[in-house]
Amino acid sequence: MLKQFSLSDLKLINPEGILKSNSLKIDKKKIVSFDKSSLYDISFKDKIYAYPALINVHDHLRGDYLPRVGPKPGNYYINWSLWDNDLKSSPVYQERANISVENCYFLGAYKNLFSGVVTVNDHFPHEFNEPLIPLLPIRVIKEYTLAHECSSFDLKWGDGIEIEHTRAKKRDHPFITHLEEGFDEESQRGIEILEELNCLDEYDVFIHCIGFSEKDIEKTKKAGAAVVWCPASNMFMFNVTCKIRKILERGIEVSIGTDSTHTGSINILEEMRYARSLYRKMYGEDLPARKIFEMVTINPAKAFRMSDRIGSLQEGKFADILLLRPRFEDPYEALVNADMEDIELLLMEGDPIYGSAKYEVLFTERNVDYTEISVRGRRMLVKGDPTGLIQEIREAVGFKKKLDFIPIDD
Ligand SMILES: [Zn+2]
Repeated sequence: MLKQFSLSDLKLINPEGILKSNSLKIDKKKIVSFDKSSLYDISFKDKIYAYPALINVHDHLRGDYLPRVGPKPGNYYINWSLWDNDLKSSPVYQERANISVENCYFLGAYKNLFSGVVTVNDHFPHEFNEPLIPLLPIRVIKEYTLAHECSSFDLKWGDGIEIEHTRAKKRDHPFITHLEEGFDEESQRGIEILEELNCLDEYDVFIHCIGFSEKDIEKTKKAGAAVVWCPASNMFMFNVTCKIRKILERGIEVSIGTDSTHTGSINILEEMRYARSLYRKMYGEDLPARKIFEMVTINPAKAFRMSDRIGSLQEGKFADILLLRPRFEDPYEALVNADMEDIELLLMEGDPIYGSAKYEVLFTERNVDYTEISVRGRRMLVKGDPTGLIQEIREAVGFKKKLDFIPIDD
């Protein structure tokens, strides 16, 4: 087992800026320095950019299936519960029911992996995902507490807002909830409900917030809570998103989440581009690529209360690293405009989990269980067996199902 190695002749990019050094030394699971290792070094003579691996702050891994299910044209929802009804009575939901829950989770995990994501939160109660998390090829966080939503008609996940929130404070975990995902009177009381329960503070991570008033934004800022923006899902279901410019102007830390592919983008790469184009459409100005980069790295790391371990390339943090073949000279533009096929290598805790077959030695030396696939004609290696997964899914649904977030050629 290769414990120590380095990656060199790279451009290293952090949310705070471009690093002076162009090497990274990894020992076991962590970045230990920005030097070359004398034991084993991989030099990237081509122009390759290295970023902290991406973090998808919000997904529903068992719901990463296609096509989307949404409102009839021009007939957008008033809250999420109408969508839930439509989903559960849709033909695609029936189709998905033929697939095992375990395989649904693998699909969700590979959706994230093939877009450079190493860390994700699955917005479901622990009893749903805990047995599956250790099997998955990426890190699905276990350290969170939750509510489904903060309204009387929510799905009653977890042990109730107050107990879950108290647990979050005690364990230093995030309290994650959908909030104000709708415009009925009760949905719009999300912040007030949390205030009344004495549960509005910096442990909170609020997903969607499309019903937020300016007063709600003010209270969120004062509490130090984090906001999760899922623009594609919001626009698809409601034809509106949160007051994102105001939220950013107030200095609230925002992360971008994909939501499931039943309503959101196919993956975080597309979600970043969508966020930028929507922002331009809404406000007639650019949301800088560097800002978007923060929303998929350091901001979600802070929201998860994990910024001591993930979110930037730093000594002592996990060696979660995304290497890209850039399409743009500017490293932030290169990331925000990246496609799945631009990924050169993806590491989780120093182990390669996806990358060009050029790095096969690293896969074998780090004892990664991998298979070979072809992605737009390129030989790639990936942890686990997504080709076998797709075969099982096709057998389960009885036809040659294609899913846009799995880039394997066939
Ligand atoms: Zn959601």
